[in-house]
Amino acid sequence: MHKDLLKRIQALIFIRVAVVTLLLGSFYIFRIGYDKLLHPTAFSLFIIFLYLMSICYALMLRWLKEDGRFIAFAYAQIIIDVVSEVVLIYMTGGIASMFSFMFPLSILSAGIILGRRACYIIATLSSVLYGALIDLQYYNLIKIPAGVLFIDRDFFYNIFANFIAFYLVAFLSGYLSDKLHKATKSLEERETVLSDLKAFSRYIIESMPSGVFTTDLSGRVITFNTSAQEITKLSREEVTGKTPEDLFPFLKNYTETMERMEGDILRNGEAFPVGMRLSPLKDGAGNPIGMIGVFQDLTELKAMEAEVKRKEKWAFIGELSASIAHELRNPLASLKASIEMLCEKKVSGEHADRLMKIALSEMDRLNGIITDFLLYARPKDLNKEAFDLHQSLRNVVTLLQGSETNRKDVTITAKLDGSLLINGDAKQLQQVFWNLGINAVDAVYEAGDIEIYTVRRNHKVEIIFKDTGVGIDAGEIDKIFYPFFTTKEKGTGLGLSIAQKIIEEHGGKITVSSKGFGAGTTFKVILPIR
Ligand code: ADP
Ligand code: MG
Repeated sequence: MHKDLLKRIQALIFIRVAVVTLLLGSFYIFRIGYDKLLHPTAFSLFIIFLYLMSICYALMLRWLKEDGRFIAFAYAQIIIDVVSEVVLIYMTGGIASMFSFMFPLSILSAGIILGRRACYIIATLSSVLYGALIDLQYYNLIKIPAGVLFIDRDFFYNIFANFIAFYLVAFLSGYLSDKLHKATKSLEERETVLSDLKAFSRYIIESMPSGVFTTDLSGRVITFNTSAQEITKLSREEVTGKTPEDLFPFLKNYTETMERMEGDILRNGEAFPVGMRLSPLKDGAGNPIGMIGVFQDLTELKAMEAEVKRKEKWAFIGELSASIAHELRNPLASLKASIEMLCEKKVSGEHADRLMKIALSEMDRLNGIITDFLLYARPKDLNKEAFDLHQSLRNVVTLLQGSETNRKDVTITAKLDGSLLINGDAKQLQQVFWNLGINAVDAVYEAGDIEIYTVRRNHKVEIIFKDTGVGIDAGEIDKIFYPFFTTKEKGTGLGLSIAQKIIEEHGGKITVSSKGFGAGTTFKVILPIR
């Protein structure tokens, strides 16, 4: 506010010098109405006085800067101006002077610098002084030679017209200065609101726990918040002007459709993971003005993930070990019982033979479980080659038809026309098909149908095993791929887990659907064809 006032006072001093120079100087140089001058020397002195005053004001201004009494200073100047104007008019012929228009200038400057009240004060002062001068001239109390003859009416009319003009100017400039003040004030208020808002959003960005940076349209980093500096251990100065790719090399693979990116960056020579979301930065009108990136340090998250994975793995191993122990204990128990009885030597020859057969078959079973388990736990390397999928499936059908387990009334229909070459480990895949086939045969209670066929879809082939067997309970369908899950008395529960493992190693998928108990089951193997 003070600064504003100071500026206006400076302008007033400057304009005064200009007006004095222009008006009085030209008046003096061209000697217009010079003959009307009462005392030409006094007039020159008057001009010098005005210049000196201007210099004084300028000097005082410097000295006043600390004091702050600008308003009094401005009043003093304007009052001195008005008095000077009266003196000027006195010297240039009183009523005949053409300088009465100078009063409104002072009134106007009072309005601009000091406000509405000052306008009326200065207008009143001007009226009183001017009126007094003209009256004195009229009553001949001071001698001013009037160049032309003026009659009485002229004097009163002149005073009257000037008074009206002074107050009119006071009213107008007071009104305008009020308006101006109000407008400046509301503008200032709006500016503070805006700058508060700007500061507020800056605080938000600075206080965010995520790293935030923005770039301009040419892709250069222009802001880099505190968290960003903490995460990257780079200072704002180090990053401004660089491109985001310089700082986060993994952004080289960024495309606009990407939701989020993860990658490593170097911090003090050590790589650590960050997750980043990059999106266009837009102005209020929605025009793009750059990019904004929000990123987080993922070190802790990754460590936690790894920890969870490790725990899951151990939980799985624990579960698996319990199942293995359980599976092995059953045959071992009957083996032990058989041998104990044989040791006691109380059993007859025929009975002893039977016990020995049981012992042998339990050993076979133990061996079978271990072989199957190893197949699951330590799968052989894939021996990939091009082979005829249809031929492989036909082989399985033939084997199933001749299988010992298949002594029921099962009809197997295979819709396998011609040959279908795929790439894969023929032996291991045949194992998969065999496991699925045997399960289907097992599922059929006394009589039923099994359908085996393939469907080609884009770059994939679907191999379908459909049976009309017992189906799978909704509660169990999630568990059938677990190792050792079985509902069969002599089952190992490894068939489907092995099948799933082999298919996954081929880049395929195995799915199951069943309408529930008694409604049949469909297994679908999806394999890529290359
Ligand atoms: P196993 O055949 O030794 O039981 P699997 O892993 O092959 O082990 O199968 C696990 C379980 O899934 C079976 O015990 C059975 O309950 C269920 N199952 C698998 N295939 C079928 C099928 N086609 N119909 C109904 N149940 C099935
Ligand atoms: Mg099985």
